[in-house]
Amino acid sequence: MQKKNTILIYSGGMDSTVLLYQLLKDNYAVRCLSIDYGQKHKRELQYAKTLCGNLSVEHKIIDLTSVAQLLSNSSLVNQGQPIPEGHYEKESMKATVVPNRNMILLSLATAWAINCKASSVSYAAHSGDHAIYPDCRESFAQGMNDVMQLCDWHSVTLNRPFVDLTKTDICQLGAKLQVPYEETWSCYLGKDLHCGRCGTCIERREAFHLAGVEDPTEYAPEAPTIQQMLETNWKLNEE
Ligand SMILES: [Zn+2]
Repeated sequence: MQKKNTILIYSGGMDSTVLLYQLLKDNYAVRCLSIDYGQKHKRELQYAKTLCGNLSVEHKIIDLTSVAQLLSNSSLVNQGQPIPEGHYEKESMKATVVPNRNMILLSLATAWAINCKASSVSYAAHSGDHAIYPDCRESFAQGMNDVMQLCDWHSVTLNRPFVDLTKTDICQLGAKLQVPYEETWSCYLGKDLHCGRCGTCIERREAFHLAGVEDPTEYAPEAPTIQQMLETNWKLNEE
């Protein structure tokens, strides 16, 4: 039977790595696409490259660093604002929105899909994403799915198998799929170790804790302990 072909938007983080393992288990032929858009956590690209190499999966990193000058109001890109600390629910975390990032990523992935006649583009948007990221909302994804089928004679669909899952569900699924979580990167600061204080670090730790999965991540010495996080209900610096 011919394999289904998909392009996976791959960040090297937890969610997209679990999706990569799920797609391979489901007998997809997967090509992975990572984008260097001038993010401070460029380290994730190296993690993505290493993991794809270990799995013998084709991987491309596209250099869009010059685009960062159009995205400078986001704290995630070089020259942007400092990265806020705390839980995603806090209003300040909106500073981590990268303007129109998903349309940029999906657009490039669609181009590659058309070029190599892949039938879909896969990405690991999950049910918690839409809270602060407008380009993770259902209506955005549906609109993109429509457009992706109109932009060429070759039709590409948008594959979002995790859309109804929480981060905790994804963490449990990855554990079943034996995802090497220590080989994934989340932290927005992109230093030597996960900081344990930014929104994505907190979300990562919370997911491991709620999933009952051992967290192999090495956090920076100044990161709060799990006990401290539990006592403050996963919030930092609450007034
Ligand atoms: Zn962090």
